[in-house]
Amino acid sequence: MIRTRIAPSPTGNLHIGTARTALFNYLFAKKMGGKFIVRIEDTDLERSSRKFEKDILAGLAWLSIEADESPVAGGKFGPYRQSERTETYRKNLEILLSGGLAFYCFHSQKELLEERESLMKSKKPPVHLCEYRNMGPQESEIFKEAKRDYIIRFKNHVGRQIFFHDLIRGDLTFESDLIGDFSIAKRIDIPLYNFAVVVDDETMQISHCIRGEDHLSNTPKQILLIEALGFKKPKYAHLPLILGLDRSKLSKRHGATSVGEYKEMGYLPEAMFNFMSLLGWNPGDDREILPKEELIKLFSLEKVQKSGAIFDINKLDWMNGEYIRRKSLAELSELSRPFLKNFLRGSKSKEHIEKILAVEQPRLKKLSDLPEKTDYFFKEPKYERGLLRWKKMTDDEISSSLNLAIGLLKENKSLEIEKLEKVFLEEAQKMGDRGLLFWPLRVALSGKEASAGPFEIIKILGIEKTAARLKYALKLFS
Ligand code: GLU
Repeated sequence: MIRTRIAPSPTGNLHIGTARTALFNYLFAKKMGGKFIVRIEDTDLERSSRKFEKDILAGLAWLSIEADESPVAGGKFGPYRQSERTETYRKNLEILLSGGLAFYCFHSQKELLEERESLMKSKKPPVHLCEYRNMGPQESEIFKEAKRDYIIRFKNHVGRQIFFHDLIRGDLTFESDLIGDFSIAKRIDIPLYNFAVVVDDETMQISHCIRGEDHLSNTPKQILLIEALGFKKPKYAHLPLILGLDRSKLSKRHGATSVGEYKEMGYLPEAMFNFMSLLGWNPGDDREILPKEELIKLFSLEKVQKSGAIFDINKLDWMNGEYIRRKSLAELSELSRPFLKNFLRGSKSKEHIEKILAVEQPRLKKLSDLPEKTDYFFKEPKYERGLLRWKKMTDDEISSSLNLAIGLLKENKSLEIEKLEKVFLEEAQKMGDRGLLFWPLRVALSGKEASAGPFEIIKILGIEKTAARLKYALKLFS
């Protein structure tokens, strides 16, 4: 049975990097008919909070990366929070300690720091081969009773090579001498990451450990612990880092980094799902719009790239637009509601909103652009009168253009909009430059440099409002 997992620490909101890792774990598990598990790594009680756990789980649910087992979904390998698994860790720590495979280290922070600095100074790797590694249990007890501060370390092998095969990076080798006696717990009931993760992966029967490349240096440590405890080694796949457009590691400097922020900005979960799937993977051809079901069919770890994956916001904008265009107007109107809420007070009918959205749907990139793009449908536009000027028109020419529009509107008010547009077009053609009639008209209606075309707007505003806005524009020149 294929079982994959993510193990986020609830010390911040759901990060794009974690979401991408979750997605690859999910796609792989689903493709193989396996299970995807979310467990919460909250051993650092000071930095962990339920608020962040909620954000992480809600973000995954929003993206429809559904967990088969999690603190909320439950499952038979639970509990799924490390803080609730203390007994399991303790048992396994005791096995290592009593077998002489782990030991109590009584060095103070200061001593360790000094050792590190002196090693660095003499250009040696900062590896701690602990003086306490051979201390027997009785002596350790005496030290502990004397209230000496301690941590628990793994007694590493000397001069050993650790091999493993990474499904993305191929065969890798690490030297135990460059790892040293690494720490595995702060106390018997406070395990540290490398130890807890190994116990969790074993007890949750994780078959594939798919995680960020930043964990590569942890893997040999985890393999040593797996061997020491007689556990089964999962398969490993380390995903490339996500980079900003400048090729440095994605960070706040590049813009939003949490999934929640993208939701707030009006990106659709389907678009995020699709976009993130291409962060380090592609189907082997140039297809990019790949909905969830298709991605599950196509995904393979072999096609994950080794080099960093660039997070290109322009591509996300484009892709989001594509997904927006796949929505029905009813769906789009439902999705847009939170973004237009300031305009929706009062009696705006559903059809009215849908008509407005139909105008914007073909060019919209994200839902949060809607208020700025559609406000003039809901309230009178405000603008500088200079905006009404097309090219080098004089004030008088603008006034007469507006007057002409008002006149044409009055004469043809019973015409259908398409016919009305024809009348305007014919008139504009006579003027030699369509902009002379259409630009002031469009700006008078929208108050914007860029907007939908004037007749798209008139269709929604109606003749009366259109005439009123033209008259208002005209007044700016009186
Ligand atoms: N808490 C770690 C992280 O979120 C888990 C790493 C792992 O998958 O082993 O990066």
